[in-house]
Amino acid sequence: MGLAMPKTFSRALCWLRRDLRLSDHRPLEEAARLAEQTAVVFIFDRNILSSLPRVDRRLDFIHRSLKELDGKLRALGSQLVVRHGDPVEEIPAVAAVFGADVVVTGRDYEPYARERDAAVGQLVRLETVKDHVVFEGSEIFSQSGTPFRVYSPYARAWKALLSGSTALDEAEPDLSGLAPSASLEGLSRPWDLADLGFETTELWLEAGEDAGLKRLTAFEKKAKRYKEDRDFPAIDGTSGLSVHFRFGTVSIREAARRAVSFGPNHEKWLNELIWREFYQDLLWHHPGVVNDTFQPQYRDLVYPGVEAHWQAWCDGATGYPIVDAAMRCLNATGWMHNRLRMIVASFLTKDLLIDYRRGEAYFAEKLLDFDLASNNGGWQWAASTGADAQPYFRIFNPLLQSVKFDPTGAFIRQWVPELAELSDADLHAPFKAKPMDLLVAGVTLGETYPYPVVDHFVQKELALAMLSGSPK
Ligand SMILES: Cc1cc2nc3c(=O)[nH]c(=O)nc-3n(C[C@H](O)[C@H](O)[C@H](O)COP(=O)(O)OP(=O)(O)OC[C@H]3O[C@@H](n4cnc5c(N)ncnc54)[C@H](O)[C@@H]3O)c2cc1C
Repeated sequence: MGLAMPKTFSRALCWLRRDLRLSDHRPLEEAARLAEQTAVVFIFDRNILSSLPRVDRRLDFIHRSLKELDGKLRALGSQLVVRHGDPVEEIPAVAAVFGADVVVTGRDYEPYARERDAAVGQLVRLETVKDHVVFEGSEIFSQSGTPFRVYSPYARAWKALLSGSTALDEAEPDLSGLAPSASLEGLSRPWDLADLGFETTELWLEAGEDAGLKRLTAFEKKAKRYKEDRDFPAIDGTSGLSVHFRFGTVSIREAARRAVSFGPNHEKWLNELIWREFYQDLLWHHPGVVNDTFQPQYRDLVYPGVEAHWQAWCDGATGYPIVDAAMRCLNATGWMHNRLRMIVASFLTKDLLIDYRRGEAYFAEKLLDFDLASNNGGWQWAASTGADAQPYFRIFNPLLQSVKFDPTGAFIRQWVPELAELSDADLHAPFKAKPMDLLVAGVTLGETYPYPVVDHFVQKELALAMLSGSPK
């Protein structure tokens, strides 16, 4: 038997942010390695919460996940410390009362988080640990030593780095040193949703670590057909895990370990996890993308789109059924399939000629899985201003996309029920249907369903002119 190593500190705080779980948890493992006793803390960040609507699924998801976590900690004789305020004040305050010599937390690559952590680090001893990604920005560079600007070579380098590395090893926090519950009494403030000023929502997705792992396990069966099914919104062919990755209720290492174990047939899913890391990497190296185009030649691009078209896009009333179905689904559930995200983003920027930043902000408000890095990356990719190997003239035809990826119209019929009686052929473009067929299906264009707000082929030319004229 080996001798237990003496610990460096007596007490540590483990500050949770994007890691709302207990298993495979690097910061918790590190805190337990460093200190005799660890208290686990979460701060509802007032700077973020104050801009959210009072009914917000994300907050509800976090809240439910924390309730589960608190229950697990209590079963181990400890409890979760929860506060609501500015972390720059709250973390040092909790550390002082608990007597923590060190605060350990998972690294966060967003500009706001980096500033916040730097400020906290001025006040307490703060150790940050990689947990949210398998490889972070400081680990992957091209052969010339610069950060990657394109996905494919990044993904190759990512996979090369993985082989023989310990990056996917499971973190095994020693939970025997969790601070006893009694020592944490009085540290938390009331944290029911109502105490935070929020209401419960109708969450269609189960929150928490247990539900996340269950979903990951259920996906293993679907993963065999992922390559074939992943692009069809009417098929439940993807993992639906993005929310769990966003809030860390599933460890990204656990997901990647399983993806690797799926074998070569299922490499496609691993590639998607790498897309997520690519965008985190991009945001880390280029924080300016939050406000500006990644490609500098598009910085001064002026989008001529009009307000009425913006409103039609938001409301799912553009006259393009696939776009409208996707937007209505987002508005009602906070979810949109990846294929649809690409279609509506291309439509907004290249058919309606509206600035991608407006669409990006709309998604940020609505998406349950909103993640700054992936959302910004996805929008800039669609708008051709971002990190994309393809040139700007890749413009999605919304009608062809509709026929190809919703061939029976099952998705459109679900979200645009006023078109449900149209034939499969007419459903994708009601404005091309014969008057008699519209009549039989009970569709009156301009009344029960809108005419298309723009002509795709006219707009495509305008988009090409706009994008080709802008490079300096
Ligand atoms: C305009 C636009 C905006 C987007 N905004 C977000 C966002 O705010 N948050 C978010 O998590 N994803 C975003 N994505 C990426 C993608 O649409 C979602 O991650 C995916 O739909 C989630 O479904 P899933 O978990 O079933 O994915 P799966 O197909 O099961 O993929 C597994 C995981 O890989 C990651 N992933 C898959 N595709 C992408 C991608 N294109 N880019 C980055 N990561 C990816 C996700 O973490 C996902 O959970 C956006 C894509 C576009 C085109």
